[in-house]
Amino acid sequence: MDIVHLLPDNVANQIAAGEVIQRPSSCLKELVENSIDAGATTIQVIVRDAGKTLLQVIDNGSGMSETDARMAFERHATSKIREASDLFRLTTMGFRGEALASICAVAQVEMTTRRAEDEIGTCIEINGSTVVRQEPVQCPVGTNFKVKNLFYNVVARRRFLKTDATELRNLIQDFYRIVLVYPEIQFTFVHNDEIILELPKANHKQRIEQVFGRSNRAAYSSQLVEINVDTDIVHIHGFVGKPENAGKQSSQYFFTNGRYMRHPVFHKAITQAYQGMLIGEASPSYFVYFDINPDEIDVNIHPTKTEIKFLNEQIIFRFLTAAVREALGKFDITPSLDFDTTGQVEMPVQTNEKRFTPQTMPRITAATNYNPFNTVHKAPGAQPELDQWQSLYPEPEPSLFEPHTALSDPYQYASRYILLPTTGGLMLIDQHRAHACVLYDIYMRQMHDHRGERQQLLFPEVLEVPTTDIAVIESMLNDLMNVGFELVQLSPTSYTVSSVPSLLSGQNAIEVLQEIIEDTHLHHSSVQEEWQQHIAWSLASHTAIRSGKPMNIDEMRQLLEQLWKLPSYARTPDGKKVTTLLSDDEIGRKFC
Ligand code: ADP
Ligand code: MG
Repeated sequence: MDIVHLLPDNVANQIAAGEVIQRPSSCLKELVENSIDAGATTIQVIVRDAGKTLLQVIDNGSGMSETDARMAFERHATSKIREASDLFRLTTMGFRGEALASICAVAQVEMTTRRAEDEIGTCIEINGSTVVRQEPVQCPVGTNFKVKNLFYNVVARRRFLKTDATELRNLIQDFYRIVLVYPEIQFTFVHNDEIILELPKANHKQRIEQVFGRSNRAAYSSQLVEINVDTDIVHIHGFVGKPENAGKQSSQYFFTNGRYMRHPVFHKAITQAYQGMLIGEASPSYFVYFDINPDEIDVNIHPTKTEIKFLNEQIIFRFLTAAVREALGKFDITPSLDFDTTGQVEMPVQTNEKRFTPQTMPRITAATNYNPFNTVHKAPGAQPELDQWQSLYPEPEPSLFEPHTALSDPYQYASRYILLPTTGGLMLIDQHRAHACVLYDIYMRQMHDHRGERQQLLFPEVLEVPTTDIAVIESMLNDLMNVGFELVQLSPTSYTVSSVPSLLSGQNAIEVLQEIIEDTHLHHSSVQEEWQQHIAWSLASHTAIRSGKPMNIDEMRQLLEQLWKLPSYARTPDGKKVTTLLSDDEIGRKFC
C-alpha cells in the first residue's frame, strides 16, 4: 500500500505557523508590517490579555478588493513580489506571503477591508484555515484585522505562552522596533482598554522621545546626541545617549534599511567609542540606522531572525566607532580637537591605502626664524634640510613661496583649500595636509627632545596587542613615551594607556595606537628614525584639521605662518602635494 500523501492545507499551514507565529508579538509584528506595506498613515493596535484573546490592528491603508481579501489568506499569496529577482529590490516589510495563511491556521480571524475606489467593503471570517463567512459590509477605507484566541486549536502552543506580563512586554518590545523606524506614521497601542502608547506623527528624534522619554521629554531629549556619517558604502545616522546617562537598562537599537537588527559586533563598535567614559557595567543607549545598498548585506531574511550579515563589517565597524566618537566629541563630551569641532568625520574608504614611505623620509628641523611675509625670503638655517628634502623626489617641487610674496588675506575654498593671492600667482593650499605637516614637525621635535606634552586621561584605556605585535610595540615604547603616551604593561598582551599626547585630545587614542602598529607592519623597518617618523606622521594625520572644516581668517593665517616656517611644505612626508600655484600666465590663458 502506498503511504505517501499530501498534507491538507490547514495542517500544512499550521506547521508553517509554528515557524512564523510563535507568540502574540510575532503575530502583531506581521499585522502591523502589513499595514505599513499598505501605506497606512495611522495604525491602531488594540490588545486584550497580552494578545492571547485579542490582537486587533486597524489601519487607513490601501485596503483590499473582495477577491484579494480572500486570496490574501492563501499560502504564498502576496502582492509584493512576482519573481525571485524582486527579492533584491524589496521596498516592503513582507514578501513571503505566509503570514496571513499562518495566522488564520492557528486563530479565529475576522477582517473587514475596503479600498478607496470601492463603495462597499468585504468582511471575512476564518477559523483555523476554514472560511466561515464572507460578505459585503459598510466600513471605512483601510483594513481592520482581528485575531481572536490565538492558538485556540494548538493546545501545546497555548500552554507554551508566558504570563500576560511577559507576553505584553514582548508585544511592546516588538512594537517599539517598528515605530522607531516609522516616525511619520501615527500609532496607538491599547491594552485592556488602557492607552499604553500614543504616538503622533513625528520625526526620528521626537519618536524616540515619545517612546522612551515619557516622564520628561525635554530631559530625555537633552541626553541624545546625533550621529551622522555618509560614506560610499553606508549611511549611518541616529542618536546615541550621553555617557553620564548610560545605565544598566539602556535602550539599544540597530536598524538596517528599516528593519530592526541585532548586531553584537556593531554593539561592540559603539561601546568602544565610549571607552573610558562609562562607569562600571553601565551601557549607553543608542538608536542607530544603517542605510545600505542591499548588495552589501545578506538579503536572506528569515521572518523571525534579526541578524544581518554585512560584507564590509570591519570597515563599517570603524565608521561607527568614529561616528560615535566624533558625535560625543562635538558635544564636548570628550575633549574636542583644536580645530575640528563641527566638521564631518573624514574617514578613509580604502583601508589598505599606502600612507607612508619611510625609506625616503628626511629628518626635519624647524627654521623658526623663517617668515615668508618678510621681504627676505631665505631662512638662513633652513636651507640644508630643504635641499635634502627636495632631493628625495625625482622632480622636486619648486618651493613655491620663494619667489612670491603674499598680496593680501587668504580665503577658504570648498572648506578644504586655502587660496592665497601672491605676486607670482594664486597659491592653493590643502588645509588638512598643511596642518598635518606642521604637526608632524612638532611631533618629530618633541620626540627628539624627549619633551612631548602629555594629557592625563580621566579613565585609563586598555590597548590590546596581539602577541605577534608585542615586539613592535616594545621597540616603539620609548618614542611613544617621548611624544606623550604613558603605557604600562597590564598583561602579556595588553597595556593601560593613562596619558596621551595633548595634541591628540579628543581622538580615540587606542585607535591611533593600533594604526601606528599596523603602519609599522606595512613598512617593516628596524631603523629607529623611521619608526619615529611613522609615529609622528600617524599622530599628525589624525590630529590635523579635517577637509570640510570651515576656517576663519585668523586660523588660516596662523596655519600658514606655521607652514612657512617649515623647511619645506611642498609635499607631505608621504609625498602628497600640499601647495600648488596657478601662475598669472595660466590664469590668463583660461580667458583666451
Ligand atoms: P506578505 O506581507 O508577505 O505579502 P501576508 O500573508 O502578510 O504576506 O499578506 C498577504 C497579502 O495580503 C499582502 O501581500 C497584501 O497584498 C495583503 N494584505 C495583508 N494585510 C493587508 C493590509 N493591512 N492592507 C492591505 N493589504 C493587506
Ligand atoms: Mg506580511
